[in-house]
Amino acid sequence: MERVYIGLGSNLAEPAEQLRRALTALAALPASQLVRHSSLYASAPLGPPDQPRYVNAVAALDTGLAPLELLDALQRIEQEQGRQRKAERWGPRTLDLDILLFGSRIIDEPRLTVPHYHMHARAFVLYPLAEIAEDLVMPDGRPLVDWLAACPFAGLERLPAPA
Ligand code: ATP
Ligand code: MG
Ligand code: MG
Repeated sequence: MERVYIGLGSNLAEPAEQLRRALTALAALPASQLVRHSSLYASAPLGPPDQPRYVNAVAALDTGLAPLELLDALQRIEQEQGRQRKAERWGPRTLDLDILLFGSRIIDEPRLTVPHYHMHARAFVLYPLAEIAEDLVMPDGRPLVDWLAACPFAGLERLPAPA
């Protein structure tokens, strides 16, 4: 088993509900165990500004799946929740599931880059990640807190847990 961190995002069709469904789907993945997940966070959209705010979270999963098997499984979950792939990059979507970290592996394949290429600059990734793994050391040997220090919380809002 390896510890994997997955970034979740949605800004269409009841985003918080999309994330809860996705967490249930992650918990049901074969050879895997959902360890914990962060709170939900609202964030300003990346890319085209004329789209609704996003809801984001990060989940920790222990998995025996290989990296590309996990990517296939995540893309299946995106499809099941109505993700439509459009030409416009970073446009609105019902669900985005990105592999942030896969153990301490560095992966550079056509379909998969790990660590996620832009996570170091995304508050909506780093702050939820720190909530569930504050002592994490990144594959480059630097502690997550160093990455956080370089990434302002701006534009992010931690949402209250549902009653
Ligand atoms: P961004 O990657 O900037 O967050 P995005 O998540 O909207 O943008 P997608 O349309 O979800 O991008 O994915 C585009 C492609 O990225 C996927 O088809 C997948 O093969 C590839 N990809 C590369 N690295 C990863 C990763 N670490 N996690 C998920 N997908 C990845
Ligand atoms: Mg993404
Ligand atoms: Mg994606």
